[in-house]
Amino acid sequence: MAILVLGGAGYIGSHTVYELIEAGRDVVVADNLFTGFKAAVHPKARFYQLDIRDRGALDTLFQAEKIDGVIHFAASSQVGESMSDPLKYYDNNLYGTMVLLQAMVAHGVNKIVFSSTAATYGEPERVPILETDKTVPTNCYGNTKLSMEQMMSWVSQAHGLKYVALRYFNACGAHPSGKIGEAHDPETHLIPIILQVANGTRKQISVFGDDYPTKDGTCVRDYIHVTDLAQAHILALDYLLNGGDNNVFNLGNGVGFTVKEVIDVARSVTGHPIPAVVSPRRAGDPAQLIASSEKAVNVLGWKPQYNDLNTIIETAWKWHSTHPHGYEEV
Ligand code: UDP
Repeated sequence: MAILVLGGAGYIGSHTVYELIEAGRDVVVADNLFTGFKAAVHPKARFYQLDIRDRGALDTLFQAEKIDGVIHFAASSQVGESMSDPLKYYDNNLYGTMVLLQAMVAHGVNKIVFSSTAATYGEPERVPILETDKTVPTNCYGNTKLSMEQMMSWVSQAHGLKYVALRYFNACGAHPSGKIGEAHDPETHLIPIILQVANGTRKQISVFGDDYPTKDGTCVRDYIHVTDLAQAHILALDYLLNGGDNNVFNLGNGVGFTVKEVIDVARSVTGHPIPAVVSPRRAGDPAQLIASSEKAVNVLGWKPQYNDLNTIIETAWKWHSTHPHGYEEV
């Protein structure tokens, strides 16, 4: 009996596979390797290179493997790209999930945990954000993730599928071993970009807006370590395997840091001056996003281990200082 991790060669997927294998679970990974890396896949996982939009490939996998439950990370996840190329997001995220659910229903696999996002909320009415707060996404990426949640809900009513949606806040950090870490092309996320300045692959960091209604004018985000996210997926899957009902959980530390504060912590961790220049605001950025993760703590028993930004950035720096070109060998 195995766990199928779709998108297991990507950033959060690969870290979840490492935690599953360390917990002694039997893991099957599927990934189309469009944005993921074969080198990120744990050597003890059985790997299938496939696209979730390929029903035939999914059928072959479900026939070959006895799958207990699915953890689904296989999606496009760049906010900016979702605004310039929305149909790519409908295709990969919504259509891909539709084909996946069709295959799961056909093969009698009825438990799924999947990546949702704080972007489902849009501009929050208040912080910390609760799962019951209104969801009005301000970008296409968030909209496709909310639609994926709704698709799961209707499929659940019709076919008895059980799902957990995990709404991540700002995923960051890397496996403490330094073996795997964050690598996107192009990179758009704050902490990897800051660390690319420190490792010499970038000259400076642009701070997107310093006129927000926050303590230093820069955006506030809730940074959560990727290993803590990985643990939450395992807890959520076990919750479903033990008979838990459909549910939605926020995953964050409940503490907000401004962009300037993150840069300062990175300067102290790396010892590099990290030049920063203020640039115009980035479209669609809410001023602050901070999670209430009480529900995940209470219902799933989730206990984030990395609640200190210094330690989080130290783990990310271990990766970025030793892999200046990510998984690419130069
Ligand atoms: N940000 C920035 N410069 C960058 C990248 C990001 O100032 O080069 C800011 C961005 O505007 C946001 C925060 O850093 O306020 C976190 O952005 P990221 O893209 O990492 O995550 P998001 O919050 O968009 O999911």
